[in-house]
This record gives sequence, C-alpha cells and structure tokens, in this order.
Amino acid sequence: MSEQEQLRIGVMTSGGDAPGMNAAVRAVVRTGISRGCQVFAIYEGYEGMIRGGNLIRPLSWDDVGGILHKGGTVIGTARSTGFRTREGRREAAANLLAHGIDRLVVIGGDGSLTGANLFRQEWPELIQELVAEGRISAAVAARHPFLGIVGIVGSIDNDFSGTDMTIGADTALHRITEAIDAIGSTAASHQRTFVIEVMGRNCGYLALMGAISGGADWVFIPENPPEMEDWQSHICEVLRKGRASGRRDSIVVVAEGARDRQGNPITSQEIKHLLEERLGEDTRVTILGHVQRGGAPSAFDRWMSTLLGHTAVLELISTTPEREPHLIGIRENRVTRVPLMRCVTDSRAVTEAVTAQRYEQAMELRGRSFGESFRTFGTLVQPQPQPLQNGERRLNLAILHSGGPAPGMNTAVRVAVRVAADHGHRVIGVRNGFQGLIHEDLFDMDWMSVSGWATLGGAELGTNRHIPEGSDLYQIARTIENHKIDGILMIGGWAGYQTCHRLYSERHIFPAFNIPMICLPASINNNLPGSELSIGSDTALNNIVQSIDRIKQSAVASRRCFVVEVMGRDCGYLALMSGLASGAERSYMPEKGITLKDLQEDLEEMCYWFGRGKRLSLMIRNERANPIYTTGFICSLFEEEGGSLFEVRQAILGHLQQGGDPSPFDRIQATRLAVRCVEYLIEQGRNEETEGSFIGYKNGKMQIFKLEDMPRMMDAAHARPRDQWWMALDSVSHDLNHRMDHKQA
Ligand code: ADP
Repeated sequence: MSEQEQLRIGVMTSGGDAPGMNAAVRAVVRTGISRGCQVFAIYEGYEGMIRGGNLIRPLSWDDVGGILHKGGTVIGTARSTGFRTREGRREAAANLLAHGIDRLVVIGGDGSLTGANLFRQEWPELIQELVAEGRISAAVAARHPFLGIVGIVGSIDNDFSGTDMTIGADTALHRITEAIDAIGSTAASHQRTFVIEVMGRNCGYLALMGAISGGADWVFIPENPPEMEDWQSHICEVLRKGRASGRRDSIVVVAEGARDRQGNPITSQEIKHLLEERLGEDTRVTILGHVQRGGAPSAFDRWMSTLLGHTAVLELISTTPEREPHLIGIRENRVTRVPLMRCVTDSRAVTEAVTAQRYEQAMELRGRSFGESFRTFGTLVQPQPQPLQNGERRLNLAILHSGGPAPGMNTAVRVAVRVAADHGHRVIGVRNGFQGLIHEDLFDMDWMSVSGWATLGGAELGTNRHIPEGSDLYQIARTIENHKIDGILMIGGWAGYQTCHRLYSERHIFPAFNIPMICLPASINNNLPGSELSIGSDTALNNIVQSIDRIKQSAVASRRCFVVEVMGRDCGYLALMSGLASGAERSYMPEKGITLKDLQEDLEEMCYWFGRGKRLSLMIRNERANPIYTTGFICSLFEEEGGSLFEVRQAILGHLQQGGDPSPFDRIQATRLAVRCVEYLIEQGRNEETEGSFIGYKNGKMQIFKLEDMPRMMDAAHARPRDQWWMALDSVSHDLNHRMDHKQA
C-alpha cells in the first residue's frame, strides 16, 4: 500500500478507565499493522486530541508489547470539557489531519461514544471551516471527506446495551468477589455483619453478581428497590432467622445508587444503623471504591478485549461514508457489530427508567437473565426453605460429581440443594462420584449443610473418574431402589456424561434407571457437549494467565523462550485461550497437532527476532498436543537450535490449574445452571416416562439436550465436542502474535 493510501487509525481510551483497555489497544495496533495501516495513539482521551503535539503518536508493534496484563490504560484517559465545544472539536479535527488520521477507535463509555458520533457528524463541516481558515488545504480536505469511527465500551459497570459484557466488568467482579470472600472469613470469625458498598449508580450488575458470587445474604440494586413498604423490618427478620439457623456471617451488598421505591437513596450507613439498632449486631461498613477499577485484568477481560480491538480495525477498514458507526460488542461469546447510537439510546433508556422510578421497565430492559439471577438470589438468601406445595409428591434427588475436580462444583451443589429444598424436596448427597452410588455412600443434605459452599474451591462431595462397569450397574440400581431416588443431578465432566449415558441406555435391563437424570457441565477442560463454557474452565484460565504473568516477570534481563504446558486432555481450549489472553506466539493444540514444519517455522521466527533484540517468547502446549513432540522435546530442540541467541525454560503448570476458589463467572454460571437442572428434575419427576439429559449454554441460550443425542455431538475418540466455537479464534491469536515482516525480510 502506498504512503498516500495507507489508512491511518487513531485509537484512544476515554472516560473512566477499565482493566482490559490495554488489551484492546494492543489488538488495534497489531491488527492495524498486520493489515498495512498505521496506528496512532491519542493520549489522554479527547484532551490529547485537542492539544495535539506529542499527545498523538504512532505506535509500533513493540510499543504495545508487555501491556496486555496491565490494569488501567497505558495511553491515559481524561475528561475533556473542551471536546464538548465545537471549537474544541475543530481543533481536534485539525490535529488528526496533521497526521492524516481519519479513522478512530474510541474505547470509552456512553459520553465518549456520544462525543465520537457528534464529531463524525460534524466532520465535513469542521474540515470546510479549517479550509476557510486556511489551516488545511482543499486537497487535504478532499483526501479525508469523512471520519470513520467505531466504538468499544470500556466501563466496569456493565451498563451498556448491545454487548453482554463491557471491558472491565469481569475484572471488577473479581475484585468484589475477592473482597467479599476475604470479609466473609473475618465476619464469620466474629459473627459480625458487614455492609459492602460497590460501584453502580444506575446499574446493579456488579452488586447483584457480586452478591451471588460471594454468597451474600442481601442485596440492594438501583433497578429493583425493595418492594415492601416496611423493607427495614423484612430484611431484619430474614437476617435474624438466618442467624438463628446457624449462619455465622451476614453480608449485605449495596450498590452505590441503591434507592427505595420513592427514589430516596438507601445508603450503606443507613443499613448499618438499622441492623445495629434492630438486631443489636456489630455491623461494619466497607466501601470498596476504586479498588474495583484497579489491578490486572482477568483472563476474560484480556481475551474479550483482544477480540473487540481486532474486529474494530476490520470494521474501520471496511467502513464507508454511508455506513452508520458501529459498536463492537460481545454476544453469546461471539463478537458482534451493532449500530452505535442505538446502543447508546437503549442504554440511556435504563437509566431514565430508574430515575423515573419505572422499576419494572428498568428490570425488563436489563434483560431476562438479569431478572432470573435476581429471583434466584432471592431464593438462596432465605433463612429456611418453603414447605412443599399442597398435593405434590416429595422427591428424593441425588447429587453427585464425576470426573476431575472443577472449581465451581461446590457452588452448583449449594444452589441445587437450596432450590430443591425450597420446593420441599429431599436432597441426597453422594460421596465420591458413582462409587458412592455403588457402595451406598449417601447422606442427607439440608439447607444449612451447604452454608459457605458458594465460594469454596474443590469438590466437597468428592469426585473421581471411575466409570461403572458390569456388576457396578446392579449395585447402582439397588442403591437407587433402596433409597427411592427419584432423580440424579450429575455435576461433572466426561466420565459423568459417559456414565449417565450408559445408565440411560440400559434402562431396558435396569428399570431402576428409568428416573430423570441431568448432567451439569463442570470440567476445566471445557470439553463437554452442548456447552460453550463448562464450570471451572474460567477459573483454570485465570490460574494459567496469572501463572504466566509471574513466569514472564521472572525473565527480566535475559533472552528467554518459555514453553508452558497446560491441561485440557484432548481439548485445546485452555491452550488457545490462555495464549490469546497472554500474548503467546503459539498455542500447540491436539486439534491441530504439531508437525516438524511448525516447530521449524517457530524456531526460525524466534531466531530472527531474538537476533534483533527480542527478550521473551512464549509458547503454550496442551498436554496432549502430540505424543512425540513433548514439552521436553520441544524445549531441547529450541535450546539446541537457538544456540547462544536465547535460553529455553519449560513450565508444566499441573494441578494448580484445577485449584483455587472459583472465579465469579464460574460461580454465576454454576448458579444459573444448577437452578435450571433442579427445576428440570422436579418437572420430570411428575412424568411416567422420564428423560436423560445434559444442560449447557449454546449460542448464548441455556439449553437442555437429550442424552441419546450425545454420541452425535461428540468426537468420542478424543472426548471433545465436534463443534468447538473457540477454534475460530486461532487466527486472531496468530494475527496479533506473529509479525509478518520477518518473512518479507
Ligand atoms: P464516559 O465515556 O465513561 O461516559 P464521560 O461521560 O465523562 O465518560 O465522557 C468522556 C468524555 O467524552 C467527556 O469528558 C467529553 O470530552 C466527551 N463527551 C461526553 N459527552 C459528550 C457530548 N455529548 N458531546 C461531546 N463530547 C462529549
């Protein structure tokens, strides 16, 4: 592309900062360069655009190296009163044209995106004014007849229509969840009550999801104030009963914009006084404040922001003067392009509904799953279950795990026990997976037996990969009959799916198996049918990404290639996504295998760049990517062939990937899926003919699939789904982590 034709893109972050913005900037710069564009950073938001000078500078491939893991935004952000004026915007246009920039990626909130849209609309007039003032030539004006813009939402509040998540919201939830977990342990020690205030003036997303993740006991959100007039007595009653039934800590989460039905603020101090006066409890307030904005971005905020930045550049390259500006968002794990101003208008409608006290409308506008989460939370915080509905048969529902441990298993069990109990049914816990059914290792689980499990890593019920065979099946049938089990919820991985399928297929031999069964996907490997993200995989991804951050830091002042081995069995999800989230040059995956040619190419590329000053290289290898080219083999090969150019180190992450407390996302998904599974078992329990099923999110919707369809959906030889949505992201990772210039050199 000639200098004249080369597209020049400006990228800026504006409004409040949000962790993940750097990942988006990096993706914009590298995608731009790989597509032959020049990318400029506009430092300090619109203020930098107005002031120009060295606040607008080109960024190279290397300039955005080493920023993916950083919180905040390395190109700065600011609020600018100047940009709200036409003179300010004319100045901004002049500064952009001084560099030939006529495409913009704006990463910010509602205000920043509105400002960008206005700027775009005014652009033709602004440049004519600049021509009239003699500041630019008519030829320059003719070369830049329109301004192409694309928006990405950076906001920790997750308060935007048109995207399921905004940049920074997941990380903020991590901070909130860590804080609630930490406060929970001290609260329990002293039997104290804590009121935790989180951000969100008009949006209760962080408060509600934080409360669900942290297993809190009450939540106040702006969109849905307490319905009862005397809500004060109600909350006190619920918390008092909770204490009476043995709960050691009480945690109340309050969004900063919480209010009552009349629109009067409900403050954390007010709640503290209420609880102290009426319950006589020692109550402390913690306002989380800017902690929520800070720190390293979560794995999700790294990979999602990377995808958004990548697509933003593709959108800008293909945009035309006629095409209205778009917002790049994420819907159902896929990147989407939605008309920008429609999203801004829809987002404002929620704020307006809250301000005008049209709360029902506000909840409706937030979407179905938000409303469902609110209702579920209402069930979980009850001090005791509701009695069985008149005339209903009391069901005995068994819960067990199978497969490797996955963080979030306990969260799912807690929710399942409480929802089942709340419908008046009996829950039987099965120890150590299907072996518990074989050996009748069962126990009753009541409401309080799962207190504190929301936040707990591991699997309290125990789990293993044993798949029952032969006489095991007779034993299982006998246990089901002896204990009059009416339904089974299996929360686990592939071994559990196979076993449930087996039991289902053998119904004609064992009539006892003619009970409803449902599998809830829980495996760090993310290799289960009908489920785009299984419980535990987000936690594992965060574990890997955090470990890689540390590994990278250990390599200061040396030239080093790291080969990091991750789990996943025959599924490359963890390898690919951790590569995307940590900027690895290559993710070796079982789906693609490894060839000698791949290794040779990677080696050549490394030699080329290490010879030109590169300091660090990162390769991720799934544990089963190739049986011959093991991690050790690859390291030896690179070490030998790299000579004195670089050193090689291997890091096999092992079981730390399965450990730790579940991430907020895993807790929230576990909660949603467990609620539906129990409802399903109850519905099925009323039928003569029952089904065997598995649940999951597919194309963003929660769906229930029949076990007989499982073989069709799975590549059984490799124990992974035939359709893996994330495989398409390999090319994005390649674009961002491979400089093509060495090939041309
Ligand atoms: P956010 O983008 O996070 O909503 P702000 O509302 O503070 O944050 O907006 C960031 C910046 O965007 C403002 O300081 C201002 O420069 C610009 N901006 C906001 N609204 C407008 C507007 N209506 N017209 C022009 N510029 C605006």
